[in-house]
Amino acid sequence: MLAIALPCLGVVGLGVRLIVEQDELAQKRAGDERRLRASDFEHALVTRLEDIRRHPDSPAVMFTAVLSDDRLVLPWDGLYQQLLTPAARQALTAAEREEFAAGRLESAQSQLRTALEAAQIGGDAASLRLALARVLAKQSRRAEAIDQYRTLLDTAVDIADENGIPLAFYAAERLEEAPTSSDVEAITALIDQVLAKRPRLPPAAWYELRTIVPRAAAANAARLAAMKAGVDRQIADVEHALALQRDAPSLVAQWKSSNSLWFGHGEPPWLVGLGPNTPAGPLVLAVDARAVTDAASAGLAGGPVTMAPSGSVDGEWLGDRFPGLKVTVPESSDSAPTLQRAFYLAGLVTVAVITLLGAYLLLRDVRRDMQLAELRSQFVSSVSHELKTPLTAIRLFAETLQSTRADARMRADYLDTIVNESERLTRLLDNILDFSRIEQGRKAYRTEPASLAAIVNAAARGLGYPLEQQGFLITVDADETLPPIAVDADALQQAIVNLLTNAVKYSGRARTIDVRLARDGDEAVISVRDAGIGIARADQPRIFERFYRVAGPYTDRIPGTGLGLTIVDHIVHAHGGRVVVDSEPGRGSTFSIRLPLPAAGRPIAAEAVS
Ligand code: ADP
Repeated sequence: MLAIALPCLGVVGLGVRLIVEQDELAQKRAGDERRLRASDFEHALVTRLEDIRRHPDSPAVMFTAVLSDDRLVLPWDGLYQQLLTPAARQALTAAEREEFAAGRLESAQSQLRTALEAAQIGGDAASLRLALARVLAKQSRRAEAIDQYRTLLDTAVDIADENGIPLAFYAAERLEEAPTSSDVEAITALIDQVLAKRPRLPPAAWYELRTIVPRAAAANAARLAAMKAGVDRQIADVEHALALQRDAPSLVAQWKSSNSLWFGHGEPPWLVGLGPNTPAGPLVLAVDARAVTDAASAGLAGGPVTMAPSGSVDGEWLGDRFPGLKVTVPESSDSAPTLQRAFYLAGLVTVAVITLLGAYLLLRDVRRDMQLAELRSQFVSSVSHELKTPLTAIRLFAETLQSTRADARMRADYLDTIVNESERLTRLLDNILDFSRIEQGRKAYRTEPASLAAIVNAAARGLGYPLEQQGFLITVDADETLPPIAVDADALQQAIVNLLTNAVKYSGRARTIDVRLARDGDEAVISVRDAGIGIARADQPRIFERFYRVAGPYTDRIPGTGLGLTIVDHIVHAHGGRVVVDSEPGRGSTFSIRLPLPAAGRPIAAEAVS
């Protein structure tokens, strides 16, 4: 067993090691490949960013800001300071004084109208118009006020107040109370235009725009949601720009301390780098990292390389030029290692299963051989015992006859016993010789038509005397009308004698044995019934095996070889029949030999069977 198990374990161990090594190798290879692709990607990214540095108006650039005295000046910073001409500012201040301080709305209105007519540039006109509309609204001249707001809606977006909020946004907000469908259309067009052009408006302008969105395209929820998302994206971007402005000092320190040109910032990530110099200071470019990574990885072999979320543990570092930036390189879809592994595993499992099966079969054979060897040795001791008992009896009675002067009756009894014991010896030897012929395949049967009733009677008669001596009552009921069939009469008689001998041996205290010959359909049934110890159900299929004896205190005391039923079974099968056992422990057993009867009218031929 060990001789099988150890090599099997060895093979399985080797196989597992091979698989583990393969896995490690594949992982290392995948890691190398990822690093290689990350470095290819880095080169592509550098090229692209250098290109962007030369063309700061590229769409990938989210913001450009100027670095002035280590401060980041955002695009909208200070943009709306000089919106009004001095004349317009003066007119506006005067009118506002009339409106707020003196409460003379009519006078404020006429001043604003005059200034409006005189206004030369768009900024002046729009500011004056907004104030005029406000005054008209206060005077409850709604219709006129609304007309002014409508005109204002068309004002260019870069005309804004000092907070950078376009005046058109105010107009849109104030149209709220009675927007006609053409108002809604105009507001929608305004928002669409702002989102498409993405003018560099300050955060406050975007917040204002968000309050206007619900007034646009109100009937179309999906369109509204898209607009809202667009505005929210812009808000996120300007807030990001504000954060960048706050972080500017540390960025500047990094630029100064390292030779890296680009740094990752925020989430979603921006790549922030130094662009060309301007008179106000160097230009700082904020590039949408996702957009450039997509573009850079598009030109590379293999799947797309993407930015890893900041703080993620997975992903490859992008190298010295991009400190703090990680990218995710997809695993190559090479399925060969997995296939190979499945193949190895299948091989291993097969080896293990085959070896275990072999070991099981071997173990079973060895156990069977051992059982057989034990049965054989039991057989030898049983046979010796069986030979010895009649021989001792024969010798004892013969010596007694020699030495004493017994009377005629005693002599006859002694001689009967000697004859009986010799017959028992003969039967035993017959059985052993038959078994040996069966084992060697030499047992031959000569069949010729014979009367089954005659055979049954002869068998019962042969044992009649010894049985009577032991107090057995044997009844024979043979159907004489059964047709003669082709059998080996001697062999069949031997089979019945074996069954009878067993009935006697295993009768316990019971003393009745019934022998019957009857027809059952197209079979002749010879049954031997005893009222003895019976056979447990589990043992019933095994009692026909050679040398098999039911273990138990009773059987152990009965001499036997375990061959009797083996021979019965062989003889009956050679005649085309079968032996059936019906038994219950403590109640007795019935053994039936069932032989096929020839179909009516068919001649019975004599033949030799083996
Ligand atoms: P043995 O020489 O042991 O009788 P057999 O082949 O004739 O060998 O029988 C095998 C076993 O079957 C016996 O050892 C016995 O245990 C059981 N057996 C056979 N016939 C009977 C029976 N009529 N009643 C109970 N047990 C029986």
